[in-house]
Amino acid sequence: MDDKKVRVRYAPSPTGFLHIGNAQSALFNYLFAKHFGGTMVLRIEDTDTKRNVPHGEDSQIENLHWLGIDWDEGPDKPNPKYAPYHQTQRVSLYHKYIQQLLDKGFAYKDYTTEDELKVMRDEQRKNGEAPHYDGRWYGRSEEDQKAAEKQGLKPDVRLHLPSNHIYAWDDIVKGNVQFNSDNMGGDFIIEKSNGMPTYNFAVVIDDYLMDITHVLRGDDHIANTPKQIAVYEALGITPPRFGHITLIYNPKTGKKLSKRDKETLQFISQYKNQGYLSEAIFNFIAFLGWSPVGEKELYSKDELIKAYDPDRMSKSPAFFDQHKLDWMNSQYIKNADVADLTDRIMDLIKEGESEIAKKLQDVNLPNLREFIKHVTKVYQREVYKLTDIMEKVYFFANVDSETFDYSQFDDFSPVVVRLILMQFRRELLDASEKGDIDFDTIIRSVGNATGIKGRELYFPLNVTFTGNTNAPQVGSILKLYSISTIINLVDKALTGTEVKS
Ligand code: GLU
Repeated sequence: MDDKKVRVRYAPSPTGFLHIGNAQSALFNYLFAKHFGGTMVLRIEDTDTKRNVPHGEDSQIENLHWLGIDWDEGPDKPNPKYAPYHQTQRVSLYHKYIQQLLDKGFAYKDYTTEDELKVMRDEQRKNGEAPHYDGRWYGRSEEDQKAAEKQGLKPDVRLHLPSNHIYAWDDIVKGNVQFNSDNMGGDFIIEKSNGMPTYNFAVVIDDYLMDITHVLRGDDHIANTPKQIAVYEALGITPPRFGHITLIYNPKTGKKLSKRDKETLQFISQYKNQGYLSEAIFNFIAFLGWSPVGEKELYSKDELIKAYDPDRMSKSPAFFDQHKLDWMNSQYIKNADVADLTDRIMDLIKEGESEIAKKLQDVNLPNLREFIKHVTKVYQREVYKLTDIMEKVYFFANVDSETFDYSQFDDFSPVVVRLILMQFRRELLDASEKGDIDFDTIIRSVGNATGIKGRELYFPLNVTFTGNTNAPQVGSILKLYSISTIINLVDKALTGTEVKS
């Protein structure tokens, strides 16, 4: 790394929720800053005012925080040396540099109308050329400009590109990349006729004035980089180092993940609402476009900061692997503290952003938190997502009104099933009379009294009390029910096993 203190930035446009692709850029900038003891800056690129959405910025910030990404400087933590952090508040700075370029003749005003541009492009296409701006206003006289102004035309400002000039850089991810100025679409706009700078101009001024040393962003920006280098060259400034992170691809279509891929959750808020843990998402995204040495896959944030190595960023596409994500999440849930998981589930219910969270808001239990904690303890090794636990909570809270499929008893002799259930009923009532109920003891003593053991004993009980042959700890689950509910379930199951004549 260079001697200069590392300063990186994540620069979202507040055009919507935090997408996994943006989160990936934010995360790698965060890892880069933390790994090298540098500074991470949050800058809001809001000059495309038509595309900004209300609360877009708040939602970005909220979701980044949820994910565990924080910054050292930004709109909420301004450093007076570099503030403000919204591009719309920096417009006068851009004007200063635009003027400099105009004065030096590196930039010029372009009065071409939309209609003229269209004719130009159509003609180029007809001639088999790639559409480009043909430079028709470069070097034009003041009289021409005045005449255009008189007609009420408002100019864009374009940067003039020297011909057959190579813009090259040593990309942190991709290695050597270069573009020839002849293939960059011609002189490009740096300030629109409404006085707003374009992204490719504002980003250069901001990165320069904010002392950014490394620019890490999605590789959809790769064709913007030579334009930005052209601005740096025109201003006589040394560019920062660039790194273009591989995009995320849908393995089914083989194409870049698109918002139209409805089956894949893509917004960070969706992962949260569906019961993914932020630590798992952080870990998962860190592996999209980067990999550590070795086979280990579960990395905490601190371990990632330590292990991060920009030389191990991947040049090839990162495929979104839903199974891997679910597996990772299940591992994090399995290893998490029960009280912590319970708090997270309580928060999800309060926020009510998923169907199951909404349903649980209407569940009336005297101690919902304890109930959830209990279910979490029983199921944390069995599930992929917190919402799976929430489904179980809902199910157990409403077990009285559930209808179970008693044909699952068919694998066993009805005589055996009935024997177990009747013995269970008896033992439960006895224990209840004595005021000493321990369900595991009751089940054990049913086994002893009937001589039925293992699968033959447990499967019928599992079906009776959970509707499913596979219940991790039926003795624990029973603690969630009232005695009358348990008796009711036993009686329903007994009716379900009646030998039909
Ligand atoms: N506002 C740009 C984006 O959201 C930032 C690109 C960059 O990092 O330069 O894609």
